[in-house]
Amino acid sequence: MGTQTEGEVSLHGEMNTLIRRSKPDRSQRIRNVVQWLFVALNGWLGVRFFLWVSYFERGGEGLYVPRPAGAEGWLPIAGLMNFKYFLLTGLVPSIHPAAMFLFVAFLLMSLILKKAFCAWLCPVGTLSELLWKLGRKIFGRNLHLPRWADLSLRGMKYLLLTFFVFVIGTMSVEALQSFMSTPYGLIADVKMLNFFRDMGDTAMIVIALLVLSSMLVQNFWCRYLCPYGALMGLVSLLSPVKIRRDAEACIDCGKCARACPAGLPVDRLMQIRSAECSACMVCVAACPAQNALQFSLPPRRAAAPAQRWFSRALGPLAVTGILAYIFFGLILFARATNHWQTNIPRAVYMNLVPHANEVTHPGM
Ligand code: SF4
Ligand code: SF4
Repeated sequence: MGTQTEGEVSLHGEMNTLIRRSKPDRSQRIRNVVQWLFVALNGWLGVRFFLWVSYFERGGEGLYVPRPAGAEGWLPIAGLMNFKYFLLTGLVPSIHPAAMFLFVAFLLMSLILKKAFCAWLCPVGTLSELLWKLGRKIFGRNLHLPRWADLSLRGMKYLLLTFFVFVIGTMSVEALQSFMSTPYGLIADVKMLNFFRDMGDTAMIVIALLVLSSMLVQNFWCRYLCPYGALMGLVSLLSPVKIRRDAEACIDCGKCARACPAGLPVDRLMQIRSAECSACMVCVAACPAQNALQFSLPPRRAAAPAQRWFSRALGPLAVTGILAYIFFGLILFARATNHWQTNIPRAVYMNLVPHANEVTHPGM
C-alpha cells in the first residue's frame, strides 16, 4: 500500500468511508457503557463498605450492612500476596480471599484480551480517560512528551512493580500468613478507605498534581505510574488476541496511530504486541477502511486469504462477553466454594475498626 498515489489513497479512503458509514462502529459506545457500569458497581461497593465501617465506628449502633467482599478489588497487594500463598500451599487464604479471586480474574483478562482491564473496567482508567478528554477540550490538545522523557517515565511503573514483586516474592508462606493476620492485614481495606477519608495536605497536593498531569497528558497515571497496569501489560504480551492490520485493505491514512491514546504506531505495524495496548479499540473505531484493522486471533493458516483473520476478529460485544464471563465466573466460583467472604468474628472488627488510624504497618 505504500506505493499508492495521493489521489488513489483519497479515492480508496472515500469509498471505504462510504462503506463504513452504512455500518457505524459501536465499539466506543459499548466500551463507555461497560466502563461506567463498572464505575457504578465500584460506587455501590464503596457506599456499602462505608456503611459497614460506620456501623463499627458507632460501636455497633444503627444500620448494619454486610461487608461487601468485592471492595477487596481495591487491595491488589493483598491479591498478589494471597495468590502467591495459594500457589505455594494450594490453599485459598481465609483473609481477603476476594482480593485474590479478583486479582486472578484481571490477570486472566490480560492473558486473553491484552490489557482490556485497564480500558474497559478499571475505574481509575475511566477517570484518566475522562480527564485527558476534558483537558483536550479546555486546552485544545493534549501534550506529547519527548520520546526520551516518555520512555524514562514509562520505566517508573515497572520499577514500582519490581519493588512489590521483590518484597512479596521474598516472603515465605509463614511470613505471608502472619502479615495477613496482623491487625493491619485484617483491616487493610478499612485503612484504604480511611486514606481517602482523612487525606492529609501532602496526599491532596499529590492527587491534585496527578489530576492536572492527567488532563495534560493522555492516561498519565496509567502510562507512567500504575504498577498494576504494568503487571497487566506484561501478562498481556502473551495474549493471542491483538490489534492486527491488513496491509491490503489499509489506505495508509494514519488515523489509527493519531487516535491511539497509547501513542502506538498502529499504521506501521502488522500487529500490536506492545504492553501499552489496552484493547480500547479506539484505533479500530478511527479507521475509515473497511476491515483494515481488527482486534483478532492469529490467522488460521489453512483459511482463504480474504477470511484469514477477520473471521477470527472479536467485536466489542464479544470482548464484553468474555470480560463478564471471567469476572462473574470467578466470583460465582468463589461464592459456590464458600471462599468469597473474609470470615472474621464481628468482635474483632468491633475492636479494630474504630481504632484503624492507630493501626500501623507491621514493618514500621
Ligand atoms: S493500538 Fe488500538 S487498541 Fe491498542 S491502545 Fe492503541 S488505540 Fe487502543
Ligand atoms: S489501519 Fe490505520 S492507516 Fe490503515 S486505513 Fe486504517 S486507520 Fe488508516
